[in-house]
Amino acid sequence: MSGIDSLPPLRQVIDTHGIAAKKSLGQNFLLDLNLTSKIARLAGDLSECDVLEVGPGPGGLTRGLLAEGARKVLAIEKDSRCMAALAEISDAYPGQLQVINGDALEVNPLEHLTPPIRVAANLPYNVGTELLVRWLTPTDWPPFWSSLTLMFQREVAERIVAQPGSKAYGRLAILAQWRTDARIVLGLPPEAFNPPPKVHSAVVNLTALPEPRFEADAKKLEMVVAKAFNQRRKMLRAALKGLAPDLEDRLIASGIKPTDRAETVGLEQFCALARNLSAG
Ligand code: SAM
Repeated sequence: MSGIDSLPPLRQVIDTHGIAAKKSLGQNFLLDLNLTSKIARLAGDLSECDVLEVGPGPGGLTRGLLAEGARKVLAIEKDSRCMAALAEISDAYPGQLQVINGDALEVNPLEHLTPPIRVAANLPYNVGTELLVRWLTPTDWPPFWSSLTLMFQREVAERIVAQPGSKAYGRLAILAQWRTDARIVLGLPPEAFNPPPKVHSAVVNLTALPEPRFEADAKKLEMVVAKAFNQRRKMLRAALKGLAPDLEDRLIASGIKPTDRAETVGLEQFCALARNLSAG
């Protein structure tokens, strides 16, 4: 018995189904079911929620999510070798686990899930940031999800929660903190995974705010921030050159000195600048 359910231990599951980790798929598995249960608990109260899980692999976190009472889990996994292991979990939780063998970047979860929806994943490193940016940048807000509980490389997690003036502060911090409450809730050493990755990892919890912290057009803000941090060492009057003929006046009107560098400018000022530039 594994402790959280009647299914076999994960090492046995991996052996039985021949799921040796593949680097090309970013496979670093969590085999400790106490740990996967802990991560599932960090996702909040799941009992009234559907959960989207990306990259379930052999199913450690999936089992945690179901044992914690998720109403339904939609698990999207690219590796067909994991399907038999996931089918065993489905059998243990009839009607509660839907597995899609496919690329998470190409599946619309809303076709399969009913709000409220939480997202929980030990993300494949190769697609993690891309998925996060997608989830953070829909045109309309609130998004389809109420919270994201995601494992990242620690360095990426630090970029999500970074404050102005720090080296990690940039586009990810602004996109995340504009419309969510973002916190690192757990740190994990390489040895927690099988095989161990080269770097430390961390779980970040992002709770969708009912409204963005400051008014701004999403596309305009994304564009300004991308341009500002593309040349983060340059003064903003140079980094943002070409955005408006009277750029320096607009920077000043937004509370930003034209000689400031992007890494010292706060979220509120970037939103003010995006509004000012949208005003024509
Ligand atoms: N959740 C499992 C765990 O915690 O042990 C596995 C995590 S492993 C870091 C990432 C998983 O994502 C792998 O199983 C990998 O096959 C899967 N994966 C990689 N790219 C994917 C994609 N584009 N869509 C869906 N799954 C993907």
